[in-house]
Formats: sequence, structure tokens, C-alpha cells
Amino acid sequence: ANTMLSGLPTTIFSVMSALAARHDAINLGQGFPDTEGPADMVEAAAGALRDGRNQYPPLAGLPELRTAVARSNARFYGIEVDPAREVVVTCGATEAITASLMALVNRGDEVVVFEPLYDTYLPVLEMLGATVRTVRLAPPRWDLPRAELAAAFGPRTKAILLNTPMNPTGKVFTAAELAFIASLLAQYDAYAVCDEVYEHLTFSPARHLPLMALPGMRGRTIRIGSAGKSFSMTGWKVGYVTAPAPLADLVAKAHQLLTFTVAPNLQRAVAVGLEKDTAYFTELAEGMRARCQQLGDGLRQAGFGVLPCDGSYFIIADITPLGFTGGDVAFCEQMTAHAGVAAIPVSAFYDSRGVTIPDCYVRFAFCKQPGVIAAAVTRLQAVR
Ligand code: PMP
Ligand code: GLN
Repeated sequence: ANTMLSGLPTTIFSVMSALAARHDAINLGQGFPDTEGPADMVEAAAGALRDGRNQYPPLAGLPELRTAVARSNARFYGIEVDPAREVVVTCGATEAITASLMALVNRGDEVVVFEPLYDTYLPVLEMLGATVRTVRLAPPRWDLPRAELAAAFGPRTKAILLNTPMNPTGKVFTAAELAFIASLLAQYDAYAVCDEVYEHLTFSPARHLPLMALPGMRGRTIRIGSAGKSFSMTGWKVGYVTAPAPLADLVAKAHQLLTFTVAPNLQRAVAVGLEKDTAYFTELAEGMRARCQQLGDGLRQAGFGVLPCDGSYFIIADITPLGFTGGDVAFCEQMTAHAGVAAIPVSAFYDSRGVTIPDCYVRFAFCKQPGVIAAAVTRLQAVR
């Protein structure tokens, strides 16, 4: 058997969702909204099925969706994109991340990542034979440690894998931080894979800025988005990659091996979504910001320390003020079983082989209806 896979535990998101179901807990673990996405997109998807959009679409994606991805790059960030040569549609951002790393990395290449990190990054890099250079961000603000980042770059650096807005921290990289990263990429002639699935979920004054939009970065950046997050349809698994043509070609080759194509009706519906007026995206972020605030306030009242959050679906709470010393994993298990609220231990976002992994932080998802957040807070306050 493949030793990387045989050693890989089941993802914490499935583990905690199963535990939540077993205890009939309110699931603030795995990040998925509990409301339907836009009705016009559901209609477009259903209509496309009836119209016979049921055979293999083009490998790189439906032209109408690739055009919509290109147009949204221009509309939101001023990035000009050739839809025919610079966009690839994938089965969620998950495939896009793997395909992008496959496109760039040869065995032995170094890839810089930030910790805490999303759970697919390390196993995929390991499968590709990359040498991972991890740069740890420190709570509560998760500011970019510039000297450490510079020290992680070297002559064998092929790429940086950057997630902003960031899961699980809720950090949004600032323009100055991105400019520093860009200067290193230029200096070392390296690439960036940018996981920007939460691009439309930032809370003002924080604003998402794609690294790709910075001077000199257009030709060395692969930018990844997800319909799951931008349209509250996480089960649809439609992702999109924007990259300079030579890299988009390679991402398409990887996609050819991994899944080949993505359900055409969903692609058509996501094209409808990406063409929505700007008010849709503003309201999405504003609604999420209100829920972030509501959950943060409730957690504080329940005795948690609460870290700042500028975007994403997630807010991190510190369990230290509660006096619990058994670690974040045990805390999440006990909170699910006894308080009836599930969340994700933040230690799951660290390289498990690392030393001194913080174990006092818990990630809560706030992409839920206000009544559900209120009920969760009531439960947490009751067991205090
Ligand atoms: N990257 C990050 C940072 C995520 O949080 C997620 C999960 N939503 C993904 C990638 C995967 O996105 P998708 O569901 O589109 O595959
Ligand atoms: N991205 C989601 C989260 O962080 C989970 C996705 C998954 O279950 N793989 O909660």
C-alpha cells in the first residue's frame, strides 16, 4: 500500500461531523452553510439537466464559465484574463490545489507553506516528493514573520502555497504582507499557488487582495476560487483556477488525470452566479460578518478567549480562560458530547510531526443561521 495514504487519518472534518451527528450536537465544526445558495443558480442547474447538458463538457470547463471567471477577475481585482487559455474548471478547490501543485512541483523541489494549514496541503506535497518548508504564524494576530519567511526561501524554492483569507485563522493577508511575499518570489524566481476560496468573505475594513494583482506576480501566480464558498453550495464542488497560459496548460493536464471534467449543469449555474451584481457579493460578506460578530460575542460570554477574525467562515477561541487543560482534541470531544456543540481542534491544522503544537485553540464555524448560532451559544453558556 502507499505509505502516505495508509498513514493518513480520516479528515478531522468528517470525524467531527460524525461525532456531532452521534450526539445530536449543533455542528459548528465542518465549514458548510445551513441555508440554500441562490435560487436562480439552483434553477439554472436544474434547467441545464433538463436541457440535456449531461455529457462530458470540455476538459478545461464550459466556455461560459471560463468567461465568467475571467470577467470576475477583471471586475473585482482588475486582473485581465484570457478565458480560453488561462482558466481551468476543477472539481472544487480541493482538486485545484492538487492539480496546481502537480503542475509546478518536481520531486525534491522546496515549497513554502504557512502553519496552521489546511489539511490537504501537506499530504499532497508529500505525495509529490516536495520538501516542505513550514513557516509558523503566531496567534492572536497571525502576522507575517518576515525574517522567518525570508529564511525559508532559497535556491531550491519552487513555490509558496498561500491561503488568504485563511482557514482556520480568519486572517486576511495585508497588502504590505503580500508585497513582501511578492518580493521574495521575484528574488527567488518562484511561483505562488493561492488558495483564495474565501475571497468574497472578508469583513471590512479588511479586504481581499489577490497576490496575482501585485506588480510582477501575474506570470508566477496560480489563483484558486470555489463556488462552494462564494455561493454557499459546498456540495457542488466546482472550483476554478486562473493562471498564466503555460501554467494553466499544466493544470489542465493534471485535471485530465484526476477527474477530467466537472458536471456541466453545475458549471452553467456557477457561471450565472459569477455574473451576479456586486450587491450579491457585498451582502454575502455582510451577512457573514454579522454571524462572526454574534458567535464571537457569544463565545466571549461563555468564557472563551476570542481571537480577531477578518474573514472566512471561521473564528478561533482560546480555551485557556475556561481552565481546561486536557488539550483541544479532548475539549472538542467533550464539548460535543456534553454541551452538544461541535467544533474543530486547531491542532489538526499543524504538521502532526511538529513539536510544541498549540493545543488551546478551537475553531468554530459561523456560516450558520443566527438562530442556530444563538442556540449553540446558549448551550455553551449553560455548561459553563
Ligand atoms: N481550501 C480551503 C482553505 C478550504 O477551507 C476548503 C474547504 N472549503 C477548500 C480549500 C476546499 O474547497 P472545495 O470544497 O471547493 O474543494
Ligand atoms: N473546508 C471545510 C472546513 O475547513 C471542510 C471541507 C472538508 O470537509 N473537507 O471546514
